[in-house]
Amino acid sequence: MGKSRVSIVKTNPQPDFTSIRQAVEKAIHLIGGIADLIKPGMKVLLNPSWVALPTEPEKGCITQAEVTRAVANIVREMGARPIIAESAAVGVDSEKVIAASGYCSLRESGYELIDLKKTEKVMIPVPGWKVFKEIESHVLVREADVIISLPKMKTHDQTEITCSIKKLKGLLSDQYKKMMHQEGLFEGVVDLLTAVKPQLTIVDAIYCQEGLGPVFGKPVEMDLILAGKDLVAVDTVCGLIMDFSPEEVPLTMTAAARGLGTARPEEIEIVGEPLSKVCRRFLRSMEDNPVQVEGFNLIYGGVTCTGCRNTVMSALVDMRNAEQLMYLPGVTVVTGDPEISPFVPAESIVTVGKCVPEGKRGRRYVKGCPPNNAYVVQAIIGDRGKARRMYAEGDLESTDKK
Ligand code: SF4
Repeated sequence: MGKSRVSIVKTNPQPDFTSIRQAVEKAIHLIGGIADLIKPGMKVLLNPSWVALPTEPEKGCITQAEVTRAVANIVREMGARPIIAESAAVGVDSEKVIAASGYCSLRESGYELIDLKKTEKVMIPVPGWKVFKEIESHVLVREADVIISLPKMKTHDQTEITCSIKKLKGLLSDQYKKMMHQEGLFEGVVDLLTAVKPQLTIVDAIYCQEGLGPVFGKPVEMDLILAGKDLVAVDTVCGLIMDFSPEEVPLTMTAAARGLGTARPEEIEIVGEPLSKVCRRFLRSMEDNPVQVEGFNLIYGGVTCTGCRNTVMSALVDMRNAEQLMYLPGVTVVTGDPEISPFVPAESIVTVGKCVPEGKRGRRYVKGCPPNNAYVVQAIIGDRGKARRMYAEGDLESTDKK
């Protein structure tokens, strides 16, 4: 079998639409074109990231509308029908993301642009499933002839990085987005990848985020577009650009282990810009603004992976942003399976994640793998107050990230 080809193309700094369109075209050309995938008359679902506000391109949070526009134009010119469809994170109104971003003018100029939250849902079976026998998505997703993932390249507080695979959570119903965190995020997202099978990804790596992505990270301008038909290989290359080894990114490794693509650099052919010219170490989520408060203890048991580490760190930063750090003294947060001193009062312990053995979970247990940040915040606060929403609307039950 040949190598998986991934293209890397540089745009101008602070690129305009013309520069972005040229870069997207070149990235597609370098992977051998897409005439094998897209035929006249096909319905082609373009799936950008609309996770949440902020929407300014320079903030690096959502897929820049010009990237989506460039891909939509190319699909149209091939005689197919581009449908731009996505749903924002749970608790976030996709229409507000559209209204505050360049997607609004795409809609006004006649592009088919759909908030999946408003569309009919359907169960889609997962062949070779690990967590979900079937997933709840949307009729539009099931009926698309081709799905193109259009992610933003960022670090992520639960999965190290988010790119072509992770962003597919936007194709799920809100209920299933939440269930992913409860039942197992890594295998769950790979179940989703198996079910919807995107055939192509074009990555917006123009303005990215490092540190506490996917919403509150620090913007980084990289001026890159990547393309490839093997999503695992593309995400592996994006990881390498951000200086993550494949082994550091559990989602990519899980997808590779299930035969959905390759995460081995020696099996990937990089075309266009050489990796060495575009690499830049991205700040890890865990390294971004750790919160230290006297009287608050954090114990990571040996089995704790980055999912729970980053979740807890992100929960603490959420509390700082919400001015709720006063709830931390006297609390001990525990992940994994550590020994806990008998002198730590049981009522002060918050246990997090399914790796905490059942007998040690106690009353303040947050289930999930990894759990959602907001539930960790609420468990820390207990009945003393309510977790404040940092980017979503509605009650805690509707909080999620993708
Ligand atoms: S529950 Fe365990 S496996 Fe899951 S994210 Fe937490 S530490 Fe990792």
